[in-house]
Amino acid sequence: PVNVNNLADEYMRLAYHGLRAKDKSFNSELVTNFDNSLPEVNIIQQDVGRVLLNLFTNAFYAVHQKQKELGQTFRPKIEVSTRLQHNNIELTVKDNGTGIPEAIRDKIMQPFFTTKPTGEGTGLGLSLSYDIIVKGHNGNIAIESEEGNGSVFIITLPII
Ligand code: ADP
Ligand code: MG
Repeated sequence: PVNVNNLADEYMRLAYHGLRAKDKSFNSELVTNFDNSLPEVNIIQQDVGRVLLNLFTNAFYAVHQKQKELGQTFRPKIEVSTRLQHNNIELTVKDNGTGIPEAIRDKIMQPFFTTKPTGEGTGLGLSLSYDIIVKGHNGNIAIESEEGNGSVFIITLPII
C-alpha cells in the first residue's frame, strides 16, 4: 500500500531540484494541497513514481521555458493536489507554464512525440504514463491546457 501524497511530494521536489541543478537561477513556487485522509492504495510504487516524475519534469520544463521567454517578472508555480472522488484517488498537477498548443494536443500521448530538443526529451513520458495508469492500473489521465496559460494533468487511480 502506497501513500500517494508522500510519493507526489517526493517526486515534485526531485524534479524541482533536478532542474535547479542545471539552472541555479530557476525558482518556482511549489504548492501542495493534499487530502490527508486519503487511504493508502495498492499501486506499483515504482511505476506510478515514474509517471509522477515525468508529470513534474514536464511541468517544471514548461514554466522554465516561459520564464526564459518572459524573464523574472513571470513567477512559476506548480501545484499538486489530491482528493478522494468516489472510489478513486484523484491527483492533479497544475502548472502556469507555456501550455499545450491546440494543434499538438492529440499527439502528446503518442510514443516519441516531443517538442523538446534532442537530449532534453524522448517523447516517451506520457505514452508510458498511459500504459502504466490506464492499462496497468485501470486509472485515467485527463488533460486541460490553455496555450500561454498553463496545463493541468489529472490522474485517477481506483482504490482497490
Ligand atoms: P517529453 O517530455 O520527453 O517531450 P512527454 O511524453 O512527457 O515527452 O511529453 C510530450 C510532449 O507533451 C512534450 O514534449 C510537450 O510538448 C507536451 N507537454 C507535456 N506536458 C506538458 C506541460 N505540462 N506543459 C506544456 N507542454 C507539455
Ligand atoms: Mg516528459
